[in-house]
Amino acid sequence: MSSVIGHRFLVPYECNVCQNLVRGGVITICGHLFCWTCLWPRLSGNGAPQCPHCRHRLILHEDIVPFHGEGPNADSDDNLSLAQPGSVPRPTGVLADWPGTKSPGGWTSTPC
Ligand SMILES: [Zn+2]
Ligand SMILES: [Zn+2]
Repeated sequence: MSSVIGHRFLVPYECNVCQNLVRGGVITICGHLFCWTCLWPRLSGNGAPQCPHCRHRLILHEDIVPFHGEGPNADSDDNLSLAQPGSVPRPTGVLADWPGTKSPGGWTSTPC
């Protein structure tokens, strides 16, 4: 059977950027899983945010939600890891701020 994605199957918990088991994961609206620290550098400073895997247009704050399942290698500290540039914390999945009202520093982080 042919696949539109390619010969490689998506592996559960595998980041689509670094190909490692995801740590501090987020899921995009298109269903792709990434480490937050892998995804954010690909969203910032590159025009309209897109899913690095399928190029789906992403709306920050709305189309990226945290992946609380985590992977086998996940550590509780992963939730606190900040993505560069800008030391941006992982999105919480809660719309604390709507676009346009958010602070320049990035997303508001609240503990679960
Ligand atoms: Zn990754
Ligand atoms: Zn995608």
